[in-house]
Amino acid sequence: MELKYVQTTCPYCGTGCSFNLVVKDGKVAGVQPYQRSPVNEGRVCPKGTYAHEFVNREDRLTKPLIKKNGTFEEATWDEAYDLIAEKFKSYKPDECAVLSSARTSNEENYALMKFARGALKTRHIDHCARLCHASTVAGLAASFGSGAMTNSIGDIAESKCLFILGSNTFEQHPLIGRRVAQAKKAGAKIIYADPRYTATGKQADLYMQFVSGSDVAILNGLMQEIIKNGWEDTEFLKNRVKGYEELKATVMKEDYSLENVSKISGIPVEQLKTAAEWIGTAESAAILYSMGITQHTVGVDNVKSIANLQMLTGNLGRPGTGVNALRGQNNVQGACDMGALPVVFTGYQKVIDEAAHKKFADAWGFPDGISEPKNGYEVTVMMDVLTDNPGELKCMYIMGENPMLSDPDLTHVEHAIKNLEFLVVQDIFMTETAELADVVLPAACYAEKDGTQTSTERRVQMWRKAQDPPGEAKDDWKIIAEIAAKMGYADQFAWETAEDIFNEIAAVTPSYHGMNYERLNRPEALHWPCPAEDHPGTPILHGAKFAHPDGFGVMHAIDWKPPAEVPDAEYPYVFTTGRILFHWHTGTMTRRSATLDNEVPTGWIEINPEDAKDLGIKDGETVKASSRRGSIIVPARVTKDIMKGVMFMPFHFKECAANILTNNALDPIAKIPEFKACAVKVEKITEA
Ligand code: SF4
Repeated sequence: MELKYVQTTCPYCGTGCSFNLVVKDGKVAGVQPYQRSPVNEGRVCPKGTYAHEFVNREDRLTKPLIKKNGTFEEATWDEAYDLIAEKFKSYKPDECAVLSSARTSNEENYALMKFARGALKTRHIDHCARLCHASTVAGLAASFGSGAMTNSIGDIAESKCLFILGSNTFEQHPLIGRRVAQAKKAGAKIIYADPRYTATGKQADLYMQFVSGSDVAILNGLMQEIIKNGWEDTEFLKNRVKGYEELKATVMKEDYSLENVSKISGIPVEQLKTAAEWIGTAESAAILYSMGITQHTVGVDNVKSIANLQMLTGNLGRPGTGVNALRGQNNVQGACDMGALPVVFTGYQKVIDEAAHKKFADAWGFPDGISEPKNGYEVTVMMDVLTDNPGELKCMYIMGENPMLSDPDLTHVEHAIKNLEFLVVQDIFMTETAELADVVLPAACYAEKDGTQTSTERRVQMWRKAQDPPGEAKDDWKIIAEIAAKMGYADQFAWETAEDIFNEIAAVTPSYHGMNYERLNRPEALHWPCPAEDHPGTPILHGAKFAHPDGFGVMHAIDWKPPAEVPDAEYPYVFTTGRILFHWHTGTMTRRSATLDNEVPTGWIEINPEDAKDLGIKDGETVKASSRRGSIIVPARVTKDIMKGVMFMPFHFKECAANILTNNALDPIAKIPEFKACAVKVEKITEA
């Protein structure tokens, strides 16, 4: 038996843990600790422990498939490429839309971004960051000039006070949760705010249960209390930020007295006072947040309010401080960095900026030019355009995304996708979205290719090939390059290896300029920005100045607004969604992992015991949950962990798809949907 160990990076959450894949006779067979990673120091969570189990499943896609008369038939790569190239060339540039993937590498996101803008010449490229942290990118860019997590994961353990809101860190980013536990052991105060008393809440010194959608009011109230007590950092406010007087005028309004905030949020005044004191007087205080903050119609306002609080207390640019946006998928930071967004090229160079547009057009050398220097559509807007203005978008190329389970209001999404004339899906399994495609292309998974991914802390780390892909499956970037060649652009995609692509990325991306595979090929890798080959990388941002051209941070005066849809007589409960420890997003990988699927085989809806009593529902009973957009049948879990008046569901499970119920109302800036608050009713199912 031939045995080898291949060190690589976990394909699940944005923490970026490293482990060894155990390869027996050329096939991935297990996961073993890799002790030298400073991120996880040899530990992994359940998802990482079983990250090998889906790799060699028999239902992996192994051959290109073309749909004929409603049925998929196996095809050769040439047949699939010829059809795709002919179709793509038949459409006008902006009739095409592209969805890239936070599950694939930086190199593959770059390849698809270049393909969209250079080969298809469309402005419409986006990916699932739109659904998770688009508000972070927009909100932190407005506040600090850079839309990324400010500090590093290891640094969290240094903090004296951690305020976690809208993040179930111990379940969604368990190896970041470990740093929270280390901070607590060293004496830090842990404050947790969430409508659910989660595994994270159980670790907290102060747990504040609140009504989903009241974040801005809570943050304004905390700031008012801090200012009233003189706990603000006057030196920081004087020397580092702009907009304090306007912010102060807003947060000091009677609307944000702790009594009023308590009425809006449901948090007792004493708890708010304690939280304000701990944050305002700590030597260092860091905020950790995730999608409980971002997935709202006021997602950008929420993020800016968090930034306001940290600027008010001077908790930025030092160890143990910061605004720590915990990114969801393994490479969602990297997919954004690579410009898989409708408004930027790599490194957030704006497509509407003439100089940036010329720079990329010149560097790429497409003889017939690239997409126009105009912003394109976000994925949520693409779906609306497809339903509201049929014929404007006609074809779509989706790499490694599954909007038929991940996006809000699935009935609307299905309607939108069915309005496409031509859909190509490239993935590792036949997903709910791939079922609707005209052509399905089999891709290699993380264990079968080289490449890089950028974790939530901006650390760029390597994937290393451990086995060959199954059947005829190929690296995503190779598929993209071969379609481009069929369309007449072989020269622009003439890469031999993933490293060739990375070198091209580094050449056109200032924050990656100083990186190369040789430098990344070590346990600590590099944090961006890393502008030169002798630069050590940047684990903590905004030390001496912010990333705005004038170096100042910007405070924003923000008033609280309720969610787009609030409970009423017909739909009397607030509905919110999230993830669980054992599953990952639409379950494409974790539900094909026997161990993980065995742990949690299906979904549920959480109901507070008082609500359950009112509704006559018992724990474990199957119920009907409905919103204005649809209904699902789902088992009830009656638990005190969920606030009275609020219902929660994990969104991983297609047989009880939470996103049938969710609302596609959007944040006006980030165009992120409001997954975290809509109105539902729940009914007992009575025997006919
Ligand atoms: Fe993978 Fe995240 Fe678990 Fe680490 S914490 S092993 S990156 S899923």
